[in-house]
Amino acid sequence: MSIQVAVNGYGTIGKRVADAVTEQPDMELVGVAKTSPNHEAELAVENGYPLYAAVEERIELFEEAGIDLAGQVDELVETADVVVDACPSGIGAENKDLYEAHDTPALYQGGEDADLVDVSFNARGNYEAATGADHVRVVSCNTTGLSRLLAPLEEEYGVEKARVTLVRRGGDPAQSGRGPINDILPNPVTLPSHHGPDVNTIFPELDIDTLGLKVPATLMHTHSVNVTLAEQPDADAVVDLLDEQDRTFLVPPEYGIDGAGKLKEFAMDRDRPRADIWENCIWEESVTVEGDDLYLFQAIHQESDVVPENVDAIRAVLGTADAAESIARTNEAMGVGF
Ligand code: NAD
Repeated sequence: MSIQVAVNGYGTIGKRVADAVTEQPDMELVGVAKTSPNHEAELAVENGYPLYAAVEERIELFEEAGIDLAGQVDELVETADVVVDACPSGIGAENKDLYEAHDTPALYQGGEDADLVDVSFNARGNYEAATGADHVRVVSCNTTGLSRLLAPLEEEYGVEKARVTLVRRGGDPAQSGRGPINDILPNPVTLPSHHGPDVNTIFPELDIDTLGLKVPATLMHTHSVNVTLAEQPDADAVVDLLDEQDRTFLVPPEYGIDGAGKLKEFAMDRDRPRADIWENCIWEESVTVEGDDLYLFQAIHQESDVVPENVDAIRAVLGTADAAESIARTNEAMGVGF
């Protein structure tokens, strides 16, 4: 029987994870839970996803909007083999008791604290660590992007020290209240930003310093990366290594892609759902080696790079596939890789 998956929180991440789950041959989406009867609730119904009320007091809002509910979230959690919590930061922590009451393993997102869970997760970094865990956190978009990059570098050359400046989008395109709208903010102004310690939840021994900025952009994050390696590779060998990874896209110089705008245009031209880019986009021309130091730029699509990771985390928790099998199956079903 296929894995019965519930999604609690059907927003930016939740709706993408729900779609990705329906594409997996070994999984069935048993339902999604929402708080409000907005256009995304309509979409869930149109997609044939059983829709559950996340909050009992709001059931009548769905009735008034003429949207049929399949039940309440606790029924959904009871039915599922695993629940993906994609609620706003901090709400996942509030939902933990619900998942425990039904003895249903839960996956949380990067907005939750690392100490909420038994293990933080990245498929390329520490897949096996999640096997049998009850509470797993799929790390944030930025930590996912850094983990995918640093894992092969550590394995192939050894990482002496990573220094990363993260130029972060102010908000997602639909987050009209976010900013800045005309500024460049050191954010946080203190060092390190939380990203380095977050990478250490996946690679505890890795020496990494991170600095964060926020800018008036919505499309993607950009990382300026410097990694001091234990061995001195040539840049071509690094390009080959990164190119052969499962969730990287080495942006070819001849494509004329100079930033996030053209990357998103590229994704739309390739018929990606919601113009999503699940891969780390690493500019091939930027890969430079000076002595022991590797430099490069990569762009990360914040709304979607964690989606295949959530799918893998489902199999990891239940122990139904090893890392290589799961990553291959997820990528094949979703069409990851340009
Ligand atoms: P979102 O606001 O787009 O979606 C969250 C959804 O959960 C909304 O539809 C909201 O109505 C719903 N919700 C609120 N309270 C709820 C409750 N009690 N029960 C069920 N649903 C409830 O948020 P998002 O961007 O999808 O973020 C979700 C999580 O993913 C956060 O932890 C965030 O940090 C993380 N994350 C977000 C991004 C990103 O760029 N958007 C990237 C990676 C990780």
